[in-house]
Amino acid sequence: MTLIAVTSMHNYKDHRSSLSDNYIEALELAGGIPVILPPSLSPEASVQALKKMDGLLLSGGPDLSPLYFGQQPQPHLRSIDALRDQQEIALIKAAREQGMPIFAICRGIQVLNAVLGGTITQHIDETLPGAIQHSQKAPQWHRHHHITIKSETMLASILGEGTIGVNSYHHQVVDKVAPGLMVSAVAPDGLVEAVECASPWTLAVQWHPEMMWRRHGEFLRLFEAFVTACGGGDNEYAS
Ligand code: MN
Repeated sequence: MTLIAVTSMHNYKDHRSSLSDNYIEALELAGGIPVILPPSLSPEASVQALKKMDGLLLSGGPDLSPLYFGQQPQPHLRSIDALRDQQEIALIKAAREQGMPIFAICRGIQVLNAVLGGTITQHIDETLPGAIQHSQKAPQWHRHHHITIKSETMLASILGEGTIGVNSYHHQVVDKVAPGLMVSAVAPDGLVEAVECASPWTLAVQWHPEMMWRRHGEFLRLFEAFVTACGGGDNEYAS
């Protein structure tokens, strides 16, 4: 049994947590058993729970407080969930200390990068005038823009190197890449779309594979590779 801790959305105004079935079904199909840790659970209890798990999936969500990467809030910063920030930062630190695999999606790549010492561009359209559109107005599974996957990366071993189309729902992006992480995919405008680290197994993507795998089956392979890295999975990556 491979247990995967999964962080979740949280509405701090009505005190409710939620998570799309897309993540749960992808992890189960990949051979893992997801366990949602809501942001209302304290960082201490979350870290205790993580000790019983085999991997950490950081799901998509709102902006990280820029105070965590040494910046003040800029005008186009969007909503901040202080509880989720605290919980995910504690979980990432604990997972890294344990050498636990991490798979980070959208907000996840940004929180991971900040915790490991990198920075985030707070609003692409304000800061990077040459950028393409990264906030799509199209179905969730639509391949909104291309990315180029670098050769000889973990991501290339999973999805293949070269160009692939992905969806895009972010107004922020990794700026300075944290030490210990390497860029494994970029958009045509040069923006970072994926980072990784081989040991401990860490893969972070800026797009939303959980919204795409039903129509574009190759994206389920990301979840399979992750669950396999966590020691489980009866899939093509399990040895
Ligand atoms: Mn994008």
